[in-house]
Amino acid sequence: MINMATNQFISISGEWNWSSFSHLLPQDVLNTIACIEPPRDDQGPDQYSWDLEPSGNFTVKSAYLKLISLDSTNMLHIWKKIWKCQTTQRIRFFLWSMAHDSIMTQSQRMKRHFITSDVCSRCNQASESTLHAIRDCPTVVPLWKNLVKRETSNATPKWKAPNEGWIKFNIDGSHCPHTDSSSCGGIARDNNGTWILGFAHRIGRSNSFQAEAWAVWSALRIAKDRNWPKVIIETDSFVVMQMIQQGCPNPHPLDFLFRKIRSLMNTWNYIVINHSGRNSNKLADALAHHGHSLSLEMSIFEECPTFCSSIAEEDCKG
Ligand SMILES: [Zn+2]
Repeated sequence: MINMATNQFISISGEWNWSSFSHLLPQDVLNTIACIEPPRDDQGPDQYSWDLEPSGNFTVKSAYLKLISLDSTNMLHIWKKIWKCQTTQRIRFFLWSMAHDSIMTQSQRMKRHFITSDVCSRCNQASESTLHAIRDCPTVVPLWKNLVKRETSNATPKWKAPNEGWIKFNIDGSHCPHTDSSSCGGIARDNNGTWILGFAHRIGRSNSFQAEAWAVWSALRIAKDRNWPKVIIETDSFVVMQMIQQGCPNPHPLDFLFRKIRSLMNTWNYIVINHSGRNSNKLADALAHHGHSLSLEMSIFEECPTFCSSIAEEDCKG
């Protein structure tokens, strides 16, 4: 086994031959391999690149931030926000205690064996955790509704249907910092806003930028398989859109993927890649999140699944 070369683990069709090595490696390593395209001779020689920066170039900042996040489970930005908050020291201290989950709620009292039930004494409906006490308890919800105004509908543009004859494919990537895994999803609709097809795909172990790029690749493959002649791909990742339109710096960790994306796009006469605001990409976002619960195979939804039907309806209202 130790003398085998990588190409001996690749099938004739150019895919990973999972059955030849999946029983030898732990799942997290398999997840990492799943989002690496098997190498091919026509991709040129191997190169080094830094996958913590979209440019592929090493920066001290990205290495430092990675070390910090390993150390303090991504809480650094929260502590910074709390201590820079424009308010009194007393409130800053209260926020800091909340972030440490150390305010004396019923649930904390029960953990310390002071009481035998952690049910909220105000609503008698749920365990009184910090979030319940401060945000979710029915007795405090009206206060939040008064304080936090909902985003007005015209603050950011909503989803817009494409012109007749075109199919708009909204796509998104999602990264879960706890498991360090990513997924992507997308939804194709016509000029009436009619659901044509949706997809969700757990990619494996990668970052959010890689998830956005994989979303483009997955959508293009579906559009090609279905022979859609005029396609608009809409992503909320400006950097991914730019790298597809202008090329990515070399060497780049995703060079192989961007090359595949561009070469597939060249097979269309009518294809456009646009940047969309998050408000117009909510359906793709929901599908991408759903991908985390799936296996590594791509799931196709020929009809709108119930978990995102309300967003689909909202989009159609415009
Ligand atoms: Zn309550």
